Amino acid sequence: MSLTVSERMGRVMPSATSAVLGLAARLREEGKDVISLGAGEPDFDTPDHIKEAAIRAIHDGQTKYTAIDGTTTLKQAIQRKFERENSLNYGLNEILVSVGAKHTLFNLCMGVLSAGDEAIIPAPSWVSYPDMVRVADGVPVSIDTGIDSDFKIQPQQLEGAITKRTRLLFLNSPSNPTGSCYTRKELEAIGEVLLRHPQVVVAADDIYEHIHWGADPFCSLATAVPELKNQVVTINGVSKCYAMTGWRIGYAGGPAEVIKAMKTIQSQCTSNPCSISQVAATAALDGDQTCVREMNKAYKSRSDYIVDALNGIPGFECRRGEGAFYAYPRVTQALTAKGLKNDVELVELLLNEAIVVMVPGSPFGTPGYVRISFACSIDELKEAVKRIRKVLA
Ligand code: PMP
Ligand code: GLU
Repeated sequence: MSLTVSERMGRVMPSATSAVLGLAARLREEGKDVISLGAGEPDFDTPDHIKEAAIRAIHDGQTKYTAIDGTTTLKQAIQRKFERENSLNYGLNEILVSVGAKHTLFNLCMGVLSAGDEAIIPAPSWVSYPDMVRVADGVPVSIDTGIDSDFKIQPQQLEGAITKRTRLLFLNSPSNPTGSCYTRKELEAIGEVLLRHPQVVVAADDIYEHIHWGADPFCSLATAVPELKNQVVTINGVSKCYAMTGWRIGYAGGPAEVIKAMKTIQSQCTSNPCSISQVAATAALDGDQTCVREMNKAYKSRSDYIVDALNGIPGFECRRGEGAFYAYPRVTQALTAKGLKNDVELVELLLNEAIVVMVPGSPFGTPGYVRISFACSIDELKEAVKRIRKVLA
């Protein structure tokens, strides 16, 4: 008799973005001259002052369990960050530190969704949202957007998608995979809808807050609509802006009862996040922010280059995002020109013939697009564009 896995596993897919990280590594091991535009991971190293804080923490013996929800020192640094950068005031009982923002989002799904509850996910969105909802026995409901609507949902679309069973909305700005960013005014209009539906909790995923160059300043949902604060869980982390993906620290500020539920889930799963990483994250949040500005400058110049270069490839059509480190061209014309069935076939073709790794748009909820991460050098981007042009010529 073969072993069985849970019924849930019939609904949950492995992460497509995590899978490309493994694929690029495997190709490199095989000695292939691979260019990875797949992973959503900064190519910069963690700044030295952050690493040194962690090394000191090890020598000082900060190597034990901490409070489940994070050390008071880190939670106070997060409190100051929210106040300084987002004009948001959270009490210590309204903050939870987790093992990356992915874990924060997972705790939120497990903490607020009951079986059959609906979670609204704008498409395209980060691949993990729908599967996290499914793990929590919820039902993902998508709202379609595309390049022609700047990949942003309209208030009336949101109103039309909300039902009695809606419990959660994911809002990610700047967005993975599009780089689109909501303005304060757009958030106010979305907020107006949400205020009419107080049963809906919003996961405001601000993880790309500091990778941003839009003309309008970055604005968090609860900042734009203070009356909504009791419905919003503001999610952020150190992975992207401080190049700390491996340290695994994410955090949330939100209503005390939701944070308490998330903490209970975490207490039965991982316990506290790594004690040493918490010291490093404190140093990141409290320290000099020059490193953040420098990395942002580099991402912006890569965005400037790659969007123009992609628009120069026949059959590619790319919007200039306001942040994050992804370009998300529509490739439908290229598919037709090459006689390819879909974005997955295009990605396979470019993987095999150009040895360039990217992620198809389908797992983000929008077939006909591909995601290109520009968390790599301009030289790599130039070489990738050259190879793509050659294969598609
Ligand atoms: N949200 C979005 C939109 C992301 O792209 C990611 C991917 N890293 C995360 C959350 C999770 O980040 P981490 O777990 O590294 O903090
Ligand atoms: N979030 C990043 C990405 O979209 C890293 C991989 C993952 O956690 O999914 O590529």
